[in-house]
Amino acid sequence: MTSQNSFDFMQLDTAKPPQEVLDLIARGAAFVINHSGGKDSQAMYLMVRKYVPAAQIVLVHADLGEVEWAGAVQHIKSTTAGEPLHICRARRNLLEMIAERGMFPSPSQRQCTSDLKRGPIEKTIRHLGVKLIVNCMGMRAQESSGRSKLATFKLSERNSKAGREWYDWLPIHAMTTDQVFSEIAAAGQQPHWIYAAGMSRFSCCFCVMSNQADLTTAARLNPSLYRKYVDLEKSTGQVMMMPSKTHGRRTLEQITGIAA
Ligand code: SF4
Repeated sequence: MTSQNSFDFMQLDTAKPPQEVLDLIARGAAFVINHSGGKDSQAMYLMVRKYVPAAQIVLVHADLGEVEWAGAVQHIKSTTAGEPLHICRARRNLLEMIAERGMFPSPSQRQCTSDLKRGPIEKTIRHLGVKLIVNCMGMRAQESSGRSKLATFKLSERNSKAGREWYDWLPIHAMTTDQVFSEIAAAGQQPHWIYAAGMSRFSCCFCVMSNQADLTTAARLNPSLYRKYVDLEKSTGQVMMMPSKTHGRRTLEQITGIAA
């Protein structure tokens, strides 16, 4: 792993930010990097850091507690250059949310994302007391058709209140997965170890958006957490994953083939 401050941000071959963003850099805006510890956040940070002075960068991590991969914060610290890192946490974690609601979140209505990530992160940003904000998020068009339609830069009217001017920017929206890994490698860094272990996505170890391969790998890497999800399926009488056209309704144990 590369140590702090030792990598060359200018090696990165990324498209220049739009003029609106360059203007906001010149105006001294605070660029808030939403950093999960995953590969997209890591590449986004490297891309932003190439153009934005360190003094204008703030990192925010939504700590998901036991449902996130171990070492996320440590990975963020070891791949950034010492900018302020704010760690926020929701009132309840995902397992508690499922147990209290008696149901799993669905991919189409991901209340988990807003409750566990977006809400706590936006609250943290508001509490920074900064008046000019660029909120940087790592969604990419390649991930889904929904994400491909997202605006890459826009004023957040919802958050632009009380004298605050707040923009949402998706700096790596156009990047492919290969380009993300290339950006990380070009900076002399490595992504979090879970990618080498076979996972394709970070954040929650078990996600309602995961594919079969990721669920199986996560069950193998984190059996004690896997057991908790399986137990929740049994106690709620529901299954975590949406039924598929090919396989219909299946429990986690049926999907992974791994007994909890
Ligand atoms: S990673 Fe998946 S399960 Fe976790 S909060 Fe996001 S959408 Fe929900």
